Order: sequence, then structure tokens, then C-alpha cells
Amino acid sequence: MPSLLNLFLKYDIKATFYFTEFCKVIGMDFTLDKYIELCETIMKNYEALTVRNYLLKKPNGKVAILRHDVDRKPLNALKMAKIEDNLGITSTYYFRMKEGVFNPNIIKKIAGMGHEIGYHYEVLDKAKGDFKKAIEIFKEELKEFRKICNISTICMHGNPISKWTNKDLWKKYDFREFDIIGEPYLSIDYEKVFYFTDTSRKWNSRFSIKDNINENVNTQIKIKDTDDIIKIINNGQSTQVCILVHPNRWNDNFAEWFIELIWQNAKNMGKAAIKKYKKLI
Ligand SMILES: [Zn+2]
Repeated sequence: MPSLLNLFLKYDIKATFYFTEFCKVIGMDFTLDKYIELCETIMKNYEALTVRNYLLKKPNGKVAILRHDVDRKPLNALKMAKIEDNLGITSTYYFRMKEGVFNPNIIKKIAGMGHEIGYHYEVLDKAKGDFKKAIEIFKEELKEFRKICNISTICMHGNPISKWTNKDLWKKYDFREFDIIGEPYLSIDYEKVFYFTDTSRKWNSRFSIKDNINENVNTQIKIKDTDDIIKIINNGQSTQVCILVHPNRWNDNFAEWFIELIWQNAKNMGKAAIKKYKKLI
């Protein structure tokens, strides 16, 4: 008698196979197959670097800084890390310190592949804007991360409904005092590096509230989908690029892909309302 788990795995493998084939036929976006295509394009055109290596080397040539914010679903991050590992790419994974996301086993596995692990902090949100409390939380959480891996870069998490912007912590404190060499929002010169982000499950979306670098340039370049990013990378328009990919948005399972699509579209409606409200006040 096959166990329930075996039956599930059999069903899941079958469902994943049919879903992958279906995606190919109709050209669906935000699937792991599409991500592989994106990685292969990056490799053909650029040297892929982690945030840490970019900041240490400060290269002038063609490089792509590959960054992931692990906001939810750490298992998706593991899948993505394996894909990159198979292709010979190393990138940076910023994990939140949150139940269900901060998973030491998964973090160790990803670090073991040679990827960089970073701390995706949200301490001003957690401390409700109290800077003193926020820096204490930062120290504690950083200590927890360093029990399991090296941390040399950090990156803020942007909560669209929070009043605070987490990177503002560094207007009062200095992250270098914590042996941190950089923060992508503060340490990369985006005049030189073109920024692509899948925040809002759209590329360089107008719905983005806190993740909006190169906003003026973005209004000039219309990016509809990942195929457009692939075209831009192949055209070699930018010497250096930074690409932010959220692993939770990319799926090879139809149910998860569909839920993410519905959930993100609902969130985008909320974000549009927030943006409209902010312009009015
Ligand atoms: Zn985040």
C-alpha cells in the first residue's frame, strides 16, 4: 500500500510536470523555469556576484548583483539556491527574523552551497519607531544569525503599511560598528548600477512603496514581464545591474503559483490606495 506521503509526492511531481509544460506552452511568468531562463541570460552577459563580493571587489566591468529577500516560504529560497548552484551562480539571501522564515537548517543548507546569507532586518517596525529599542533588537537578532552563519551585509525589509522605513536606523547609528560592510539600499551607487526588482510581482512596479530606486528611469522604461528583463540584459544596455528576486513569488506548483497571483494582485490594490492617500496628504 503506498503511504499518503508517497501518493502526495507522486501527485505533486505529476502536477509540477504538467504545470511546467502548460507554462511553457502559454509562456507564463514567475515560474522556476522562467527563473532558470533569467539566470542563464545573466550568466551569458554578466559576472553574477553576491552583495558582499560586489562591495569588496568594487568591480568596473559587467556585473550582476543578485539579491533575494526571503520574506516568506524559506523552502522556495532553498529551491532557488539549488537552481543557482546547479548553474554555477552565487547570490545573496536576506532572511527575516520571523517565525516560519528564520529556519536555521535551510539557512545552513543555502550557505553550504556558497551563497551569502544576509539579515533582512525590520527592527524599526518591530520597535514601533523607537530607535533605542530598535538597535537593541538589531543586536540580538544579528547575534542569533551569527550563531549559524557569517553575516557581512544586511538589507532592510519594507513593509508597505508601516509608518517607518527600517533603513532610517542608520541615520542615528552606524552598521559598520557591528562588522557589517554594507546595506544594498545605502552602499550601492544606483547612478552606476541599474536596479530591477520583482516587488509586487511585477518588474519595477509603480505599486512599490519602499522599494523604489531609479524611479525616474523606471517611468521611461516599460517592463512588462521577465521576458522584457531578459531582452534588456541581452541588449547589454547597462554595464552593471542589481536584480532583486523574492523566492516566494516564483513557483513550480500551480496551486502556489495561483495563490501568489491572487494574493499579490489584492496587495497591489491596497498599495495603490496607500500611494494615492500619501499623495493627498
Ligand atoms: Zn522584505
